[in-house]
Amino acid sequence: MLASRPHGEPTQDNFRTEQVELAQPQSGEALLQTLYLSLDPYMRGRMSDAPSYAPPVQVGDTMVGATVSRVLQSQDPSLAEGDVVLGYGGWQTHSLEKAAHLRRLDTDAPVPVSTALGVLGMPGFTAYAGLLEIGRPQPGETVAVAAATGPVGSAVGQIAKVKGARAVGIAGGPEKVAYLRELGFDAAVDHRSPTFREDLAAACPDGIDVYFENVGGAVWDAVFPLLNTFARVPVCGLVAGYNATSLPEGPDRTPALMGTVLRKSLTLRGFIQTEFVERLTEPFVRDMTGWVADGSVGYREDVVDGLDNAVEAFRGLLRGDNFGKLVIKVAE
Ligand code: NDP
Repeated sequence: MLASRPHGEPTQDNFRTEQVELAQPQSGEALLQTLYLSLDPYMRGRMSDAPSYAPPVQVGDTMVGATVSRVLQSQDPSLAEGDVVLGYGGWQTHSLEKAAHLRRLDTDAPVPVSTALGVLGMPGFTAYAGLLEIGRPQPGETVAVAAATGPVGSAVGQIAKVKGARAVGIAGGPEKVAYLRELGFDAAVDHRSPTFREDLAAACPDGIDVYFENVGGAVWDAVFPLLNTFARVPVCGLVAGYNATSLPEGPDRTPALMGTVLRKSLTLRGFIQTEFVERLTEPFVRDMTGWVADGSVGYREDVVDGLDNAVEAFRGLLRGDNFGKLVIKVAE
């Protein structure tokens, strides 16, 4: 449960555990046991009551989150005991959900069911929709993305490659950089290196045509001068600032930003993935399933055992401790 709203980085004190009697499912509902809980950067926004595109979790309520769960009891003909489903059960061991809100997962598929929370789920969809609808990479263009080993960034770079573009990944630390090369990124740069700015410039000799913005902060500062005329910037996330409690020090750089947007005819376009769900879910499922199956898109999961470790794992997600899609394994 959210016990209080974090100021800056969340702490254990902002959460508490409660035990309750399991309720019985009513008609149209199912009682579920959580197998995997997805931890995602957007959850920091739900912990706060600052204005957002979605209402915050109320203090005293269960933290929200996407889950892969097993059906324990069903009061709906569409689901049977033992089915494994994608739902939105939140940070809890069991949940009661409406069957109409659940999607049954294929447990015989060649990929683990937890991928419904990552490459084949919301983060993969975010990459697909944001890159193809807003970034529109053309063959030979340079696409740069940060948080590039995470589920959104790794899919962005690999889809860019499928579309014939050059992919430049930005990540924290040499291990992550090495993994990006394994995934087939054309270049990979460590944003924690003291030579990051020069390294990024060297990795983008023809400038940047599409910058898929996942982080903001110092990475944006390094990318900005490299943007080409007519560059597109899908603004997907600004994770570097999610725990910020004040604006960065001046001077105000808005005039320089707006001047460059004007002179270079840049397109900066924010989006929330839900905007595209109705129109693009079908092509996403078809394309991404195919790309994962034929090896064009690889993925990595960072599985942390035990719901009790969710708060610490979430803190690590905003610092870059995770290496791949962060999921909590709640039960076998
Ligand atoms: P990740 O698993 O990639 O986790 C976040 C990563 O951000 C960290 O692992 C870290 O990687 C990186 N990071 C954190 N702080 C900094 C920093 N100061 N500078 C540079 N990198 C930093 O997350 P996701 O793939 O799930 O999400 C990526 C982004 O997409 C987030 O901003 C998220 O909010 C956004 N998003 C937006 C959606 C939308 O609809 N608009 C939907 C889904 C996600 P590293 O160690 O490499 O630095």
